[in-house]
Amino acid sequence: MTSALREAEGIHALSIPTPFAVGRVNCYLIDDDPLTLVDTGPNSGKALDELEQALREHGRRIEDLQRIVITHQHLDHLGLVGILARRSGAEVCALDLLAPVVEEFAAHAERDDELAEALMLRHGIPRDVVTALRAVSRSFRAWGGSAPVDRPLADGEDLGFASRTLRVLHRPGHSPSDTLFWDAARAVLIGGDHLIGHISSNPLVSRPLGGRSGEPGDGRPRALTTYLRSLEETRAMPVEVVLAGHGVPVTDHVGLIDERFRMHERRARKIHGLVAERPLTAYEIAQSLWGNVAVTQAYLTLSEVLGHVDLLLDREEIRESEVGGVIRFEAS
Ligand SMILES: [Zn+2]
Repeated sequence: MTSALREAEGIHALSIPTPFAVGRVNCYLIDDDPLTLVDTGPNSGKALDELEQALREHGRRIEDLQRIVITHQHLDHLGLVGILARRSGAEVCALDLLAPVVEEFAAHAERDDELAEALMLRHGIPRDVVTALRAVSRSFRAWGGSAPVDRPLADGEDLGFASRTLRVLHRPGHSPSDTLFWDAARAVLIGGDHLIGHISSNPLVSRPLGGRSGEPGDGRPRALTTYLRSLEETRAMPVEVVLAGHGVPVTDHVGLIDERFRMHERRARKIHGLVAERPLTAYEIAQSLWGNVAVTQAYLTLSEVLGHVDLLLDREEIRESEVGGVIRFEAS
């Protein structure tokens, strides 16, 4: 990790605790002009405390921050944005399509939950599970946060510093707003959750935000298909190190992406085998694959199944039919 980070030159990983299963999140302090923090950690006293401590280890305080950059819309990456922006006066930068989410996090999360609820019922998840999950999601929302976005960034735009330039790249899939920051001169990619070494980034089905994430109302969002397309583009880049949102930096992005491609293909084949026996809802497929999953995992596993079902639908290996508002999949 140290050698990879030495190459990243002037970028320090700050590991901040989260209350989520994913564990700690990496925020990155870019020691340049302007002094920049990429991602904030979740909105909790513990996260704020540890962030202050981590900054102190680099001789910095929250008040010294001049720029805050957000990689994507998830709680653990943007929760403290409001508090940090108020205390430091730093300019908040985010992809233009992400800006409305950063500015009104709770309202956006509510609309995402409405989509999730409709999808879960349509794909066979029992109503009591859906109701329970909605309540869990509402309580999680407190770890989010909002701030005015001073500088919306366009896909492909350059974000300048005194001694580096970061190219802004919209690469949706894990979330509709995933944004990469590419330092071509150093071959360093700040990746958010686009590519993580020790876990595969779940493409969670969420409301499209436009651009490469698709337009709202275009039918069921196809998160995995979008994600695989984004990974293809990253694979083609001459990256030496990916500074990931969780875990250690990734130094073999091509090998890791190829491994992810194989894993998704295996899972698609397995699902094809299941629906070849009899028509199944996405919920029944998830139960066959993982047993009775915890309520909190119900939407995650549904997203996972739907992603692979999309791959099979695209190849016309399966088809879907609807009875009484519930979708079942069967082999073609
Ligand atoms: Zn994420």
